[in-house]
Amino acid sequence: MVVLRMVILGRQGSGKGTQSLRLAEAYGCVHLSTGDILRAAVGEGTDLGQQAEAVMNSGGLVGDDIMIPLVQERIGKDDIATSGVLLDGFPRTADQANGLESMLGARGQMLTVAINLDVPVAEVTLRMMARGREDDTEDAIARRLDLYEAETAPLLDWFAERGLLATVDGLGEESDVFGRLQAVIDQRLA
Ligand code: ADP
Repeated sequence: MVVLRMVILGRQGSGKGTQSLRLAEAYGCVHLSTGDILRAAVGEGTDLGQQAEAVMNSGGLVGDDIMIPLVQERIGKDDIATSGVLLDGFPRTADQANGLESMLGARGQMLTVAINLDVPVAEVTLRMMARGREDDTEDAIARRLDLYEAETAPLLDWFAERGLLATVDGLGEESDVFGRLQAVIDQRLA
C-alpha cells in the first residue's frame, strides 16, 4: 500500500483546516496540524504553550528553532510511518521546508504532493472576520496574511521546482473543493 505524505498550503482562512480533516479521514492518514498542536499547548499551559502564546496572538510565526524539532519528533512516530501524514500549517518558511526535506530524506521518504489550496486575499479576509476566532483580530489577520505572502508563498516555487506542487481552486462549496482535492491526490496515486 502507498503511504501518502502530503503538505497542504493555503492562506489563513482558505479552508485548509476543514479540508485537511476530511482528507485525513478519507485517506486514512494522520492529520498533523501545527496550529492545533500549538493551541493545545497554550490551553494546557505547557512550556511550548507559554513560548508560543504571545507570538500566536500577535499573528507572528513561532520560531523555526521550536517548530522544526516539534514536527521532527512527531513525524517519526509509528502511526505516521504506517499510515502516512497530511501536514497542515507546516512548512511555513524556507527553513521549515528544508528541515522537512531532510527529516524525510533521513528516513528514505519523500513527499507525495504539496497542495496549494488557492483562495484570494480579499475572500480569506472576509472569511476570517466572520469566524471570529480569539486570535482573529483585524491586526492579527493582516499580519498573518502579510507573513503568508512573505514567508510561505515563496514555498510554492520551492515545491514546484521539485515537481510536487498541485494548485486547487478553494472557492465554492466545501464538498466541491473536497472533490477537487481528491482528484489531485488520486491522480498522484494512479
Ligand atoms: P491559521 O492558518 O489560521 O493561521 P494555524 O492553525 O495554522 O492557523 O496556526 C495558528 C498560529 O500558530 C499561526 O498564526 C502561528 O503563530 C502559529 N504556527 C502554526 N504553525 C506554524 C509554523 N509552521 N511555523 C510558525 N508558526 C506556526
